[in-house]
This record gives sequence, C-alpha cells and structure tokens, in this order.
Amino acid sequence: MDGRIPAPAAVEFRRADYDARTLAALVPALLDGTGMRPIEHGMRVLIKPNFLAPAAPERAMTTHPLVLRAVVEHVLGRGGRPTVADSPGRGSFEHLLNKGGYAQALAGLDVAVRPFRETVKVDIGAPFGRIELAREAVEADLVVNLPKLKTHTMMLLTLGVKNLFGCVVGLAKPEWHMRSGIDRKLFARLLVQIHRAVNPAVTLIDGILAMEGEGPGRSGTPRRIGLLGAAASAPALDAAICRLLGVRPEDLPTHAAALAAGLVAGEPGIRGDFLPVSGFHLPVLAPLTFGPPRLQRLMRRHLVQRPEAIRGRCRLCGECWRCCPAKAITPHAETVGFDYDRCIRCYCCIEMCPHAALKTAETPAGRAARKLAGLRDRVTHRMGRAGLRRPRRRAH
Ligand code: SF4
Ligand code: SF4
Repeated sequence: MDGRIPAPAAVEFRRADYDARTLAALVPALLDGTGMRPIEHGMRVLIKPNFLAPAAPERAMTTHPLVLRAVVEHVLGRGGRPTVADSPGRGSFEHLLNKGGYAQALAGLDVAVRPFRETVKVDIGAPFGRIELAREAVEADLVVNLPKLKTHTMMLLTLGVKNLFGCVVGLAKPEWHMRSGIDRKLFARLLVQIHRAVNPAVTLIDGILAMEGEGPGRSGTPRRIGLLGAAASAPALDAAICRLLGVRPEDLPTHAAALAAGLVAGEPGIRGDFLPVSGFHLPVLAPLTFGPPRLQRLMRRHLVQRPEAIRGRCRLCGECWRCCPAKAITPHAETVGFDYDRCIRCYCCIEMCPHAALKTAETPAGRAARKLAGLRDRVTHRMGRAGLRRPRRRAH
C-alpha cells in the first residue's frame, strides 16, 4: 500500500473535556465520522499515543489517559484486540504509566500496554532505504495514531505525522536525529516516509489541553484549547490544526514534505466544532542548513538558535548528555556546557530535560539575520499588494 490519500480528506473536530463518560460517547462518533477503515472482530489494533516521558497529564506532554481509555474501549467494543505501545524518550515505562495516569485509567480493560522493543527492517523509500521500525506498528492489522497537540522547537508543531517517529525504537532515535537533524527538510521527509510505512487507519489528536511555547517537553506551556480532532489522513489533520492555530500549513515542515510526497492535496474538508485559536505561542524556527555546504557549519554555529541552560535550574541529572546524539554536552560544577561546534541543533536535550532547565537562545547574528529577512518579506508583501513585482533572476 503506498499510503496515498484522496484529496480533499475530511477532518472532524469536536469540543471536549477530560470526562470519561463524555469521551466514551464522543470518541466513537468522532472516529466513525472520519470514514476510517472499520475495526473488525479479532483485528490486532495498535494504538500509538504520545508517551514522550513520565509526566502528569496536566503538563500536557503526553496523550491524556482518558482519551486513551476511550479509544481502547472503542476498539474492544468493536471486537478488536488492542495493544498500546510507544517508545518513550526517557524514564522507565512503569513510571510513565503510573505518573501519566495510564495504569489507573486502563485498569480492568483487556489491553496489552508495553514499550516497543522488537524491530523489523522496512524499506521506507529513498534516500533512507531500509530502517528499523517497531514490529508491532508494522505488523498490526490496523493502527490508531493518538498524538498530542504540542509545539516543537525543531519542527514547529508535533502533530499526527510526527507522532509516528515513536515507532523508531530506543537508541535508533538519536541516531536518526544525528543523520537527518541537521537538515529540517530531510528530517521532515524521514517523518513523512515513516508515517507512510506505518500507514495509520486514523489519527485522533488530543487538543483538549495542548502545549504552546518551547514544546514538546517540560519547557513548553500547557494551553487549553478544548478540542479533539480526527481524520483518516494524518497530513490532512495536521493541515487543519495549522489552520486552527493560524499557521500556514506549508510552513509546517512535515506538511510541506507530505505535500511534496503527494500524500495530501488542497485544503482539508473541515467539519464540526472548528474554533480558531488566537495568540497561540509558537517557537521561532531558524533554517538549519543554508548556503554553500562549506559554509553551513559556520552559519549553523553563528545563525541558528542554540540550546542554553537556564540559570539555577539544572540538577545535573544527566538526561541531556545521555540523549545528545552529537555528544556536545558536558557537565560542569552547577550546570551543563555546550560545544556549539558539535551541536547539530536537534533540540533533543530541551525535549528530554525533566527540569525545564534548557531553552533555545538566539545568537546576535541570527537575530540580525531574522530581522533582515522579516524586513525583506514585508517589502515583498507590500510590493505584491501594490501590484509590483520583484525583478526576476535570469536563469543561467
Ligand atoms: S540540563 Fe536538564 S537534563 Fe541536563 S543535566 Fe541539567 S537538569 Fe538534567
Ligand atoms: S546539545 Fe542538544 S541540540 Fe545540540 S546536538 Fe546535543 S541534544 Fe541536539
């Protein structure tokens, strides 16, 4: 199956709260409204939430346990055999289940809950070729994708397509960050091709308590939006969420890659409670690669936002230097230091820090470059409105 979705795909939104009884009625109606492939008796159904790290539901880092419960009940109600699995970035899986409220929410339900462990090699297409993905994700009869609506310092937002990066297991994640993380477009393409290989039947996003600011970890800020959204096409859902937040879908790197791959076309057909959100705080993205290859390292060092420790917050727990794919972090007496020549700006350290002790910081040269770029865009926009055109470059 090539994973192509006919356009325009339908996206359903519903107002919602974290109330078990309401969700038990709402979630089946929402999923059925997407026109997803039906769940049949005996089907092995993989439910893939966002289990980033152990965190209480009010931190908005992970898919809410009551949303997960409603989906599990729905699968059981249709005669499916559900498994809930993910590959958390840090912490023990048991701790995650307890702290995140999943152990309690799923108690008494006939569902397997476990971390991804076994992998199979899958050809996801050029330029990546065969990569190792979670066996359960690849071999399930049907996959239900359950992302959390959050910002992401490297990819702007982490929505439906990005959530399936969790199907890359354990230490392979930082390795892929290392190989693709220096080029956001390439990384977005990797995410889209993983999504296409996993081919979820439906994506349901938990946007009841979302995250804005410096997401997707503890440095982000919870923000109540009060919506669930669902679609058979994750790229269509991602585009609709962009519209909801006032973001141009083509500015979301994963959506630009999905458009280029032909997975979605045109505007999604949005239905239900589409309630636009104003003033949603997004992280500022800087290009990770630009200019001639010989200059890229220099430009990345001086122009791209870099991770920085927030004074007084670091507890030297070691999560960041253990996850850093470039080995660019060193512990000092009271905080951590960064080797910005080695750092590839993947921001995994910010994502993984359990104490919200890291942030992205602009370099002076980067700030100046962004102001110039903003000025250029404003001039171009005004020229466009006045019916003027910039002189075309001559092709050589
Ligand atoms: S920056 Fe965060 S993750 Fe790194 S050592 Fe300090 S507290 Fe731990
Ligand atoms: S220091 Fe942080 S941003 Fe830089 S490579 Fe390491 S994990 Fe990525």
